[in-house]
Amino acid sequence: MRLDTLGVDRSVSVLFPPEVLLETLGDLPVETVLIDGDSNTDSNTTERCDGVVTFEYRPSLLDASWVHSVQAGVDRFPQERFREANVRLTNSTGLHGDAIGETVAGYMLAFARRLHTHVANQREKRWSRPEWDEPWTIAGERACVVGLGSLGRGVVDRATGLGLDVDGVRRTPVPEPGVHRMYTPDALETAISDARFVVLTVPLTPETEGMVDADVFAAMREDAYLINVARGPVVDQRALVRALEDGGIAGAALDVFETEPLPESSPLWEMDEVIVTPHAGSATRQYGDHVASIVAESVRRIRAGEDPVNRVC
Ligand code: NAD
Repeated sequence: MRLDTLGVDRSVSVLFPPEVLLETLGDLPVETVLIDGDSNTDSNTTERCDGVVTFEYRPSLLDASWVHSVQAGVDRFPQERFREANVRLTNSTGLHGDAIGETVAGYMLAFARRLHTHVANQREKRWSRPEWDEPWTIAGERACVVGLGSLGRGVVDRATGLGLDVDGVRRTPVPEPGVHRMYTPDALETAISDARFVVLTVPLTPETEGMVDADVFAAMREDAYLINVARGPVVDQRALVRALEDGGIAGAALDVFETEPLPESSPLWEMDEVIVTPHAGSATRQYGDHVASIVAESVRRIRAGEDPVNRVC
């Protein structure tokens, strides 16, 4: 594959300024240009690029030979069309374990130590100590991490560091350091039934879409919290709202939703035991530099006639 011109699509600005990539990639032996979607007024269009680094998918990307997604999830990219057009698609998996691990640890600590309630009270200038039996400590509690890739690993490391007992769900039930009991997806209800925290770190695929449904909520403990840092549609959001309203589960920390941004009309905004974050669980000021290091390695490999890093198809 020929790789002389690499485009950085302006859509990456959802996560970091494109200039971060352009600057860092400036030393590569390829021409690096900023492209602005399909704008006709800009001379730098996808058409003149052999490779494109992007946040968004759009059909004209199939004119390139290689497309790199700055996210780990490529559920918005139609892989069949990439295969048909013989375009290589790569993703940014491997970058998010630390940031997501810390975000998930933060959610867990907030719920146990009641920090979300204290912050809400502070906004109202309300000095209100919790009931004696409201706060708890997470050491010795059980978490079940569903999906043990890069995100899952980051969560397991933090959770074990905080003294939790961690179980896991993965497709092949091989052992994973720090994970006590391993289950396969067909045993999901058993796996989560004894967990105080159920943490979702799977990609969105036909198998995982809607995998956390009413039956799963029924199998969860009433004092359990769901943490979703994967993708919104992995959870049946109506069933989640029902479980929260009925007291089937204690609460949820949600970074991702069926519809993003979360519509103002969603009841999730106003629930005391729900933490809503705006798909920012992996955000970090180092994000652009991390993506640049993956892209630089892929450029080196492609020019050496090898496969790029993190090839999806
Ligand atoms: P990864 O490929 O490293 O790990 C995903 C893991 O899930 C793999 O081990 C895979 O085998 C496993 N898996 C797939 N289907 C499964 C199933 N049915 N049951 C159990 N395990 C299953 O990917 P990653 O970097 O860890 O990212 C995972 C997903 O998290 C991404 O696809 C993306 O959608 C989401 N994500 C969200 C954020 C955020 O900001 N909230 C950031 C990064 C990634």
